Amino acid sequence: MIIHVAQTTYSGTLSVFRNPRTKVSAHYVVRSSDGHVAQCVRDSDIAWHAGNWDYNTRSIGIEHEGWVDRPGYFTDAMYERSARLTASICERHGIPKNRAHIIGHHEVPGSDHTDPGRHWDWKRYLRLVKSA
Ligand SMILES: [Zn+2]
Repeated sequence: MIIHVAQTTYSGTLSVFRNPRTKVSAHYVVRSSDGHVAQCVRDSDIAWHAGNWDYNTRSIGIEHEGWVDRPGYFTDAMYERSARLTASICERHGIPKNRAHIIGHHEVPGSDHTDPGRHWDWKRYLRLVKSA
């Protein structure tokens, strides 16, 4: 599981993914205001989100609406819905619910991205994933 912050809005993220010339995608996008989830790529298909082909081929990517330096976008609804999504993906695919298997984009080897950034509350997120 790779956690992202999109550096754009929910609708901006979807339009980037719809444009094949951008050559980026993620499996899911979560909306800030209400936690609404859009699935853009099937779990069994490869999305181009990690910037690392090896990680792309064996991970599920979740984008979150917002910016790394604007924590107001990280709403309760978004944390809760995203954590439920991550929990169900972990259960379906046998992925352990821990920080070794649920990582940030910045933790992908070779990544020059900083998302989800220092405002992302990993403790809270993992607690929600484990209790979902
Ligand atoms: Zn990212």
